[in-house]
Amino acid sequence: FSQRDAKFLLSAVISKHYSHLTDPEITFAGRSNVGKSSLINAVLRSASLVKTSKKPGHTSALNFFSLSSRAHPKSITVVDMPGYGFRSHQEWGKFIMEYLSTRKELQRVFMLVEAKVGELKSTDESFLDLVEQYGVSTQIVLTKIDKLKCADLEKISSKIIDAATEIAPTAVQPQAICCSSRSKAGIDHLQAEILRVCHI
Ligand code: GDP
Repeated sequence: FSQRDAKFLLSAVISKHYSHLTDPEITFAGRSNVGKSSLINAVLRSASLVKTSKKPGHTSALNFFSLSSRAHPKSITVVDMPGYGFRSHQEWGKFIMEYLSTRKELQRVFMLVEAKVGELKSTDESFLDLVEQYGVSTQIVLTKIDKLKCADLEKISSKIIDAATEIAPTAVQPQAICCSSRSKAGIDHLQAEILRVCHI
């Protein structure tokens, strides 16, 4: 991808506002402050398409982006899900549940967990319950790995995958992707995975 390949499409909380988008789709989810905005910008190779902010919960809707490139004939839709852990679970849950349960275009959710945190929090676990319930293929992405030593990363990665697999045995993919928006480690791998799951 290059910077011009990505563009913002729309923000939405109800499905009729995004049901006309029919390209293969992937979604980024994670707790507030996990590094989601920075990671999406890195993946889309854009400095500020997704606003990064230290203020938790600055996005409160689903944000849709289109990714197309001359190298690939088909476009992909990339969705930025609001960070969980800032609204009441009920309020957050309603439109997320509608999205996860109805979105046929959705090929995979990339669920971000900060590597240094080293474990799943209760909001991560609730989210995994949802993807398991709706049968949505989900891959764990460990973020901000520049903060850790490689040896620690391997241990943390298998611990988190084990915990996630226990909650969502059919939804969770067996391999985590390890990334840093700061050092750019793992970004190419994540991009390749996005193209692969979207059959591009
Ligand atoms: P979001 O709330 O999940 O969208 O997270 P942001 O992308 O806004 O990042 C939250 C904070 O983590 C900011 O202070 C970022 O500078 C920092 N951050 C994001 N990605 C990385 C990373 O790869 N490495 C490090 N060390 N810090 C990061």
